[in-house]
Amino acid sequence: MTEWEYAKQIIETINARGGEAYIVGGAVRDYMLGHLPDDIDIATSLFPDEVLALFPKAVPTGIDHGTVTVILDHHPFEVTTFRSEGTYSDSRRPDHVALGVSLEEDLLRRDFTMNAMAFHDGNVVDLFGGRLDLEAKVIRTVGSPYERFDEDALRIMRAFRFMAQLDFTLDEELVRAASALGHKLRHIAMERIAIEFEKLMAGPAYKRALSSLMAAGIHAHLPDMDRHLLEKVIDDDRRPVNALGGWALLLYHAGDANWLAAWKRSNATKREASRLARLLSTGLDTFAIYDTPEATLDTYLRMEGRTDRALELKRALPIQRRSELRFDGRDAIAIGAKGATIKQLLAHLERVVLHGELSNEETILRKEAGAWLRHEERS
Ligand code: ATP
Ligand code: MG
Repeated sequence: MTEWEYAKQIIETINARGGEAYIVGGAVRDYMLGHLPDDIDIATSLFPDEVLALFPKAVPTGIDHGTVTVILDHHPFEVTTFRSEGTYSDSRRPDHVALGVSLEEDLLRRDFTMNAMAFHDGNVVDLFGGRLDLEAKVIRTVGSPYERFDEDALRIMRAFRFMAQLDFTLDEELVRAASALGHKLRHIAMERIAIEFEKLMAGPAYKRALSSLMAAGIHAHLPDMDRHLLEKVIDDDRRPVNALGGWALLLYHAGDANWLAAWKRSNATKREASRLARLLSTGLDTFAIYDTPEATLDTYLRMEGRTDRALELKRALPIQRRSELRFDGRDAIAIGAKGATIKQLLAHLERVVLHGELSNEETILRKEAGAWLRHEERS
């Protein structure tokens, strides 16, 4: 069964209980664009406890805002009770969410017209002209952009990221509102801003989105971001291709190893982005192919417009990891190496095998190890 068929099954189960249910949000947008959606969200008139009771495998994943995750054959679907949002006193989170409202009210709280449609039984519920905006490739807020950005400033970042992902333009009033209210981004958690920003960088139209973001002055509200840095990124022919590539390109042009710190990314992201930024400046050599994790290396290759992939490059090496070396710590100790020398000896053997100077055979490596140790002792 396809994701759509599972979603349909969930909707029919809810309908059989007398509830209303629709596919909503990004999945409807993606469907109308002919894209495969990442995930299909469902909105329903039933309350979370009713949804929980209806499906044998259902988990209350976001019960405070009415969300239950229904799992069919290991496929998760978020099923959320129709809700409206109360006033926003902090430009960040509604003061309360109200469950048990109508579909219309649920659609009204959504950010953009293209994200505010619902789909059911072959019919699209389109109250705000989302379909026309999709056809015109325009991103427009549901209602006044000033009000909507004032309620939740993250929507400003979302507008630019959808622009980058879909190669759409932004409604003019939306841009003016973003300019006027960009300062409200300080109320938003950096992690959430960073997620939208990395999606922007990974989008095909990231150059256009960055240019408009600069023109609207939004960069001034992002950490360590200036015009000069963004212009360098835009002028670089290497495309970020994914979030990691985006951070690496920024790091590379910022020329400051600490540049990512303020963005609150995970340690793994910081480490791999730094590694990738270094590769972007030094280029690839045998040791880098060996030492760089596959995903990072693939990102690098794609950024450079190469058609070869990490796995092929790694497979062509004499060894893929140190454990494949036909000489290990125990062998080193057996021939009399001690302490830090053991590590140095193994690193030496790894290097010569990797560079094809010696073949990875026990007797050959043992001989080389002995010679290396004797040389070390003499010097
Ligand atoms: P993606 O394909 O990137 O997941 P999406 O449109 O599904 O895109 P989500 O962040 O998953 O985006 O949000 C799902 C839906 O929830 C959106 O389509 C939109 O209707 C609504 N939404 C999400 N964030 C906001 C927000 N900050 N303000 C208003 N509505 C929002
Ligand atoms: Mg989504």
